[in-house]
Amino acid sequence: MRYDIQLEQAAHYIRSHDDFLVLAHLHPDGDAIGSTVAMGLLLHHLGKSVTIANEGETPSRFAFLSRYKPIEDLSVSKLNKTFQHVITVDVADESRMGNVQAYLAKETNILNIDHHPTNTMFGDVNLIQPRAASTTQILYDLIKEHFQDAFDHALATALYTGLLTDTGGFRHSNTTKEVFDMASHLLTFGVDPNEVAEQAIDTTSPSHLNVLKKALNSLTFANGKRVAIFTVTKEDMLETGATKDDIDGLVSYPKNIEGVEVGALLKEWSEGEVKVSLRSKRDIDVAVIAQENGGGGHAKAAGYTFNGSLEDAKTTLLDQLQDALGDDNGKTN
Ligand code: 5GP
Ligand code: MN
Repeated sequence: MRYDIQLEQAAHYIRSHDDFLVLAHLHPDGDAIGSTVAMGLLLHHLGKSVTIANEGETPSRFAFLSRYKPIEDLSVSKLNKTFQHVITVDVADESRMGNVQAYLAKETNILNIDHHPTNTMFGDVNLIQPRAASTTQILYDLIKEHFQDAFDHALATALYTGLLTDTGGFRHSNTTKEVFDMASHLLTFGVDPNEVAEQAIDTTSPSHLNVLKKALNSLTFANGKRVAIFTVTKEDMLETGATKDDIDGLVSYPKNIEGVEVGALLKEWSEGEVKVSLRSKRDIDVAVIAQENGGGGHAKAAGYTFNGSLEDAKTTLLDQLQDALGDDNGKTN
């Protein structure tokens, strides 16, 4: 369906309902938090009642956004009602919302806003634009087209944060003229790019560096150094006190190595549960590999959960990458 029609339908959904629940994905990133807060602020501006929530804590580097609109953490506090109108942002498929069934009314009517090409269109109304660099870029289009008056400093900052983080600080291949046009327009509402970058991207925790030290020791190459892999074991997490949040961004180290085409990070969350993050520099579509393993994402950034040991996760992935890279130079070293 044409994008302008999808935008129109989403605007109609928002205008014609009230009492919304806004949800993003598990282990939220800057786009998930930015989109959640932006949607919360938009609905508030329209005089609608809204609850914004996530299963899990807001990472501390995005805490500056929850100043504008606090996000309920469903893993610690329960909501005492169910919602008929649910807006999901940056959620590729329903399982990514986590354990939220208890808050959805039987006759739930979902508005699904997302930019993942692997989105399963699970909404009753779907606003999906895979060409958008971030979900906040879609929200920006929606607001610019239908709710101009809502723009202010807080809303612009939330939208900018998702754009900045999902483009890797305006560096990924999704950084287009439209991205800079949007950023430039948002700056007219007083967004402080230095402050957002410092908080959302640059600030690291001591645990992040300690877990990086361990991950560096695990660095393995494959396919003639076109693949580089980091692993983090559950012992590494325990010994460094690292949280899932502290591990974010680690996958860019193997990816950034000269000559490497695919970087991978295998995180052993618990015995038999390995979260795999994949990053591609050029031609290899890692979303395809993630989908083969029950996950999803984008061509250049994707992920999945592997049920089994860390070693099995690694062997399976190396086989799949060998096929994807299509050469016979597959020895690890
Ligand atoms: P990350 O590696 O940072 O966790 O995720 C990279 C990208 O892949 C993100 O866009 C994220 O939404 C997607 N992704 C990561 N894990 C999963 C997963 O288990 N299922 C799906 N559908 N997408 C995932
Ligand atoms: Mn996103």
